[in-house]
Amino acid sequence: MKQTPFWVEDHPRPAGLGSDELPAEIDYLVVGSGLTGLSAALRLAEAGKQVAVIDSGEIAGGASSINGGMVSPDVKAGIDTVHAYYGPRVAADMWESTVRSVELVKELSRRPGIDAVTHSGGMAALGRGGKQLRAFDRKLEWYRGRFGVDWEVVDAREIDRIVGGDSFNVALYQPASLGVHPARLVFGLAAEVAQAGAKLVSHCPARSMERTRNGMTVSTGRGVAHAGDVILATNGYTTRAPSRELARLVVPVGSYIIVTEPVGKEMADSVFPGGAMTYTPKRLLNYMRRTHDDRVLVGGRRNLRPGLDLEASAVDLRQAMVRFWPQLEDARVSHVWGGRVGVTFDLIPHIGRVDGAWYALGYAGHGVALALQLGHELAGMLLGEDPTSVYATIPHNGRFYYTGRSTWFLTPASLLYRALDRMGV
Ligand SMILES: Cc1cc2nc3c(=O)[nH]c(=O)nc-3n(C[C@H](O)[C@H](O)[C@H](O)COP(=O)(O)OP(=O)(O)OC[C@H]3O[C@@H](n4cnc5c(N)ncnc54)[C@H](O)[C@@H]3O)c2cc1C
Repeated sequence: MKQTPFWVEDHPRPAGLGSDELPAEIDYLVVGSGLTGLSAALRLAEAGKQVAVIDSGEIAGGASSINGGMVSPDVKAGIDTVHAYYGPRVAADMWESTVRSVELVKELSRRPGIDAVTHSGGMAALGRGGKQLRAFDRKLEWYRGRFGVDWEVVDAREIDRIVGGDSFNVALYQPASLGVHPARLVFGLAAEVAQAGAKLVSHCPARSMERTRNGMTVSTGRGVAHAGDVILATNGYTTRAPSRELARLVVPVGSYIIVTEPVGKEMADSVFPGGAMTYTPKRLLNYMRRTHDDRVLVGGRRNLRPGLDLEASAVDLRQAMVRFWPQLEDARVSHVWGGRVGVTFDLIPHIGRVDGAWYALGYAGHGVALALQLGHELAGMLLGEDPTSVYATIPHNGRFYYTGRSTWFLTPASLLYRALDRMGV
């Protein structure tokens, strides 16, 4: 079993992506070369601005090339929660933006050289029993009443068209959701950004920054750059440099994935008959999909902490897979890996400003489409093309117990979530 991401082995990072020269003067310096930073850079560079995107590691070496590739509208907290906090106007604007985010994935994927959409069979939340069925019914009614969604609650009579096996007998199906190949999406996007004239600089950590009379000065591992504006797009890999203030606002949470060796079309069809990607709607959830070459991918976590032992994570995830689909007992796990998702305390993504720089982050494991969308919206604001973004209009708060250093609270939170999930509340 390899402890490396399957996606990057299947679609390696193009050679020469990322130079080692940092331009001294640019209009915009983007810190972080995942989907957020690249999406912002693409819009800015295509508007004729001088842009540099820097990353402390490889280009797109964070979550964006190694995720589950599952794309659907909504934010992690749920627009119903946003509605409860901020009312119908903010909820409607944010919902609209999340729907556009899925369209943005499709649009970008149509560009030559990206071609990342591998599945358009929708996505389904899976469950069992009458209580879960009623919860799905309530959710559908709420979203349909406000936004006219085309989702569907599927009961035991028809569950076979969504998922195989006996473990699940009810589902909430969202037909417009997509599956992508993450490495194709983000490496293709990086190539487009370079093509549009932006400079991509790898192994170039931003260490500190300060405001100047006409912009910002950023000290990096490859020298100093002066920029009119800085965008921090560091999400789950945010540290206390270059902004301690930002590190307080987003918590790095671990996320782990296994894929099996190819199981063959017949077996993959027996698990995912209609091609829908699936997940269990819990606090410590699992998500499951097939890959373009008929592997089974299972993601999730036992504990919210980053950096868990990968072998132990593979054992946990494999156990979940075989519990859901005993026919996969003989399927061998070929890859296991982990990464970091950026979680805000309200589980809503945010655009904001710290220490003179702009930031966009906090997708809570729901960021393939949203990272692209927030990067795009932030660039639109900076260009003066969009008056604002809904993610910039709501407060973004930290908590007194988190300074951007120790995430000690993730272990007790994991225990609590596990207990609540077991109780079904
Ligand atoms: C295992 C896993 C599975 C996931 N599955 C899904 C899924 O199925 N669907 C979904 O929607 N989302 C999923 N996500 C979440 C999704 O991948 C992220 O929300 C999204 O990729 C975030 O993109 P980003 O550009 O904001 O951050 P990232 O892609 O993480 O990029 C941040 C970059 O910032 C760089 N950086 C940090 N600090 C500095 C610094 N000081 N100087 C320079 N560079 C710096 C890092 O090196 C990193 O490359 C998953 C995430 C993980 C880890």
